[in-house]
Amino acid sequence: MSTLSLLQLTKQFGDVKAVNQVSLEVADGEFLCILGPSGCGKSTALRMIGGFEMPSYGDVLIDGASVVDLPPNRRPTAMVFQKYTLWPHMRIWENVAFGLRLRRLPKDQIERKVNDALTLVGLTDYGPRFPTQLSGGEQQRVALARALVLEPKILLLDEPFSNLDALLRVRLREELRRIQRQVHITAIFVTHDQEEALSLADRIAVMNKGRLEQLDVPSAIYANPRSLFVADFIGTMNLLPATQTDHTLQIGNQMLSAPDSFNGTVTVAIRPEDVVVVPETTPDAWHGTIDHLIDLGHYRKAIVLMPGFGELKVYLPKTAIFTEGSAIALVATCYLIYRADQPPVEVSRAAMEQMSAQVT
Ligand code: ATP
Repeated sequence: MSTLSLLQLTKQFGDVKAVNQVSLEVADGEFLCILGPSGCGKSTALRMIGGFEMPSYGDVLIDGASVVDLPPNRRPTAMVFQKYTLWPHMRIWENVAFGLRLRRLPKDQIERKVNDALTLVGLTDYGPRFPTQLSGGEQQRVALARALVLEPKILLLDEPFSNLDALLRVRLREELRRIQRQVHITAIFVTHDQEEALSLADRIAVMNKGRLEQLDVPSAIYANPRSLFVADFIGTMNLLPATQTDHTLQIGNQMLSAPDSFNGTVTVAIRPEDVVVVPETTPDAWHGTIDHLIDLGHYRKAIVLMPGFGELKVYLPKTAIFTEGSAIALVATCYLIYRADQPPVEVSRAAMEQMSAQVT
């Protein structure tokens, strides 16, 4: 068992609350990504878990026991950093063995564990080389082997692949996930890359300005962002300022329905894939003009100019016969309504139609 609990974890640097009352639980064997923009406090949170930073307030529990008074080397954690941190004068084998030597393990055990760790990361024959004889991706594999060989309860990773090119990043992240499942280790992975978080994590903790904004499985973070910040940060989202009067939302000169009555300003959030192209004569359709078309291989992204409220991003199938300047009619099939300090209201057109059919 290797569980992690953060209890109101807080770090203040002068006037800046880098991490502000973050509480969360990570289950045994779970892969948690901490995701957020630069400066949101994700590295500071990770460093407090690893013991490289002392909390100003709050606690870090591993398997129910507080570790905040322990230095990094006495915690059951191991960290992989963004920059390769291998010792250049040591061969790869010695780099991986170093932590075990400090623990004064018998020679035969060190030998076996180092060989196993190098095999796990796919570098069985690389032991005799020096770090400069390895590529960036290979060096990060060694850093991972060096962390795993210590058999920590919790593996901590701080943007470990951000110095690598896009293709290699994808390969290494898939490999990391395979290894993490294979050795069944609890992992905390910090990233500012939403695609990386969505593809890797069992759950994602989204941070903003030191606070935990949302903690959920990737599909829920994407489909049901609990705040405007998360809606804007994850994936592509159209955020449209609107005015609601009773059950009607007015966005520029276009209308939408709301399931509940409210009066005031709101923001309507619509994913591009939740907007469908319909015939011009469709009742309640929105009418706009295609301003810009971007070919993305299997589909096209269109920027549609909507009279009264500006731009709407939508996706068009490859087969759609539109060009820049074409008139287009659209219907939003699903959207979220955000009101100040309230959880969003999700609206699906099918559900709305069902509701109004029941009323009439
Ligand atoms: P990035 O992705 O850019 O690394 P981050 O989300 O990991 O960002 P942190 O490095 O945790 O953010 O920093 C959070 C805030 O705390 C920032 O405003 C940063 O300037 C501040 N900060 C971090 N470390 C220190 C420090 N040692 N002294 C003073 N301020 C710090």
